[in-house]
Amino acid sequence: METSYRVMILGTGPAGLTAAIYAARAFLAPMVIDGNEPGGQLTLTSEVENFPGFPTAIQGPDLMDQMRDQAKRFGATFKTGAVTAVDLSHRPFKVTVDDGAETFFAESLIVSTGASAKMLEIPGESEMVGHGISTCATCDGFFYRDKKIVAVGGGDSAMEEATFLTRFASEVTIVHRRSQLRASKVMQDRARKNEKIRWELDVTPVSVVHRQGQVVGLEVRDNKTGVVRTISAEGVFVAIGHRPNTDFLNHQLDMDELGYIRTAGVTSQTNVPGVFACGDVMDRRYRQAITAAGSGCKAAMDCEKYLETLE
Ligand code: NAP
Repeated sequence: METSYRVMILGTGPAGLTAAIYAARAFLAPMVIDGNEPGGQLTLTSEVENFPGFPTAIQGPDLMDQMRDQAKRFGATFKTGAVTAVDLSHRPFKVTVDDGAETFFAESLIVSTGASAKMLEIPGESEMVGHGISTCATCDGFFYRDKKIVAVGGGDSAMEEATFLTRFASEVTIVHRRSQLRASKVMQDRARKNEKIRWELDVTPVSVVHRQGQVVGLEVRDNKTGVVRTISAEGVFVAIGHRPNTDFLNHQLDMDELGYIRTAGVTSQTNVPGVFACGDVMDRRYRQAITAAGSGCKAAMDCEKYLETLE
């Protein structure tokens, strides 16, 4: 059964759901495809304290549920599943969900499939996400006041996260798999000057050590000696990069060298008229729920204008 929509929104993080609210209120009856991680990265965090309007904080999953309910209230419909392919060469655009289980057509698309933090993929990591394993210092740093933390990675993100975390933590240990850092000189220098930062270079993370539902350390192997030991920490921040979720596009949109979708100027317009991008899939710089939500609003407004031009 093939159905055609005026606008389809791919992804249900803050960008996609905000786009859904705006598109629904513009009577475009958007169809929203959930994606692999309904609600996006915020569903992986616990308390969100920096989203305006929630002075006593809100749980990440609750915030996403509320945004979803708000979009539904105005007529957005949701489909569980992940978009596995799109065909942007013909109009209406073709959207394939779950490898062909369902096919949809749409006059316009809003791509808000987000980015996924790269993980270490070591034992103990996945089960402790949100309980001592984090990929966002801005989101979770506050919960580690006067605690020991490990930040993993040797790039700008790891330097930035580690430096930021020293506001809260008693000590931050940067763990990197090589003796050379990848980070820019200025970011390295800032971290090196910080007295709360310790360095563990040329060590490979082996496993996350946890007891009674709480992270207690990171086990690492010294690359030179092969000796395995545990660095004590109550939090492990994984900062080894992000990957925009764009595989399903099969290079049909312009992207930068890291795979983030390029948009025109201050708009959400991609290089294909009628296809808009918002949130972390096009933003490698800010990556915040509130900036994603703002860009979702822009995408819906750009999309509405585009559809008007078709009439
Ligand atoms: P990145 O530059 O790709 O660095 C990732 C780091 O993680 C590298 O040091 C890498 O080690 C390490 N790593 C990757 N996979 C690993 C694994 N499986 N196990 C252990 N370590 C692993 O990523 P990023 O730091 O997120 O930066 C991405 C881009 O954003 C860069 O262009 C960066 O300049 C930019 N950025 C800029 C700012 C800023 O200017 N304020 C802040 C953040 C990010 P190797 O070095 O051995 O490969």
